Amino acid sequence: MKTARLSVNAGEVRRQFPFFQPHPEMRSVIYLDNAATTQKPYTVIEAVSNFWAHHNATVHRGGHGVGAKASELYEAARTRVAQFLNAREPNEIVFTRGTTEAINLVATAWGEAFVQAGDEIIVTELEHHANLLPWMRLAEKQQATLKVWRITDDGRLNLDDLRELLTERTRLVAVSHISNVLGGVNPVAEICHLAHAAGALCLVDAAQSIAHMRVDVQRIECDFLMFSGHKAYGPTGIGALYAKREHLEAMPPYHVGGGMVQTVRWERVRWAEPPMKFEAGTPPIGEAIGLHAALDFIDSIGREAIESYEHELTQYALRRLQETPGVRLYGPVPDRTGIFAFTLEDIHPHDIATVLDTRDIAVRAGLHCAHPLSERLGGPTVRASLALYNDTDHIDALIEALHHTRQVFGYAG
Ligand code: PLP
Repeated sequence: MKTARLSVNAGEVRRQFPFFQPHPEMRSVIYLDNAATTQKPYTVIEAVSNFWAHHNATVHRGGHGVGAKASELYEAARTRVAQFLNAREPNEIVFTRGTTEAINLVATAWGEAFVQAGDEIIVTELEHHANLLPWMRLAEKQQATLKVWRITDDGRLNLDDLRELLTERTRLVAVSHISNVLGGVNPVAEICHLAHAAGALCLVDAAQSIAHMRVDVQRIECDFLMFSGHKAYGPTGIGALYAKREHLEAMPPYHVGGGMVQTVRWERVRWAEPPMKFEAGTPPIGEAIGLHAALDFIDSIGREAIESYEHELTQYALRRLQETPGVRLYGPVPDRTGIFAFTLEDIHPHDIATVLDTRDIAVRAGLHCAHPLSERLGGPTVRASLALYNDTDHIDALIEALHHTRQVFGYAG
């Protein structure tokens, strides 16, 4: 496979990122840790720095033109997120610090109001701690039951298993769109359909899908969906929660403070309408504007083009990893994306990552903030994860470095 034939030219994409330009004091890195965070294009960095240089003011408060402009830019970012997700209206988008905060918001504000003793919440065995611990804590607090939807031996979720778990006491099914360890794409529209048929709500953690495929909340019909800007070429400290308007209206606030009230009297407080009701305090304004630029960057390449390019690259990586002696690859083979958890012989994954680092290849090793899943897999793994600026040369360099690692640890041939 040659990258040039494909819909995305990764070399041209890299030219849009300062991280990939030669620097006198930095070594150039093959960056394969995109599931942790992605690099940022110039346009995102410039959007953030332009805001801080020329438009800095807080939003929805100041009685001056600078504040009005800042508010306009911040609300334009919300409208952009709504459009990107195909939400019905911008008011269904709440800015948060990221996926973790968005799930905590739902688990606290919605969960403590609507989950009672004896109710059930279903989570999958695949979840990142961000979509696990808030539900474990909620279940304990409300004396509800947390049910675990186990994966099959080949790392998939079987819908029949969900059918068996759902009961009339189920209040919510919480599932990741793409596993941050195994890279499998979960059938979230079908999952939400089954949850709704049982009278439950459905929450989708889109942290690993947002930058790699089209995410359409109306097509998925989820009740809640969230993502982090920094995994989608945007800044850290910003993410978004999508929630159906009826839920945002029914939920009490999460944090309370400035900016989220209409009136405060000693005897009575009137909350602002959503989404303001959930955005207490000064929000991450420059970061939201940076997120807007990141979504523009993604759409400038095209989401279908990204998906098809990354699919080809994933198939190539899959093939090369499968034919590398000593590699044990985890996760499903069909319906997967460019996140590869693997081990090499019985070399400790941290040692593998260290050897790869000496060759300027950045991967992650460990339990990937998914301890129950890692335990099911048998322990720590190395994780290489792709983005649209990676190409087949990067995969070849990884494979070559894995051969080298085997030799370093005394495996012949
Ligand atoms: N969910 C998944 C599937 C993730 O991969 C991650 C981060 O790796 C998160 C949630 C948490 O994202 P953040 O740390 O940006 O809040």
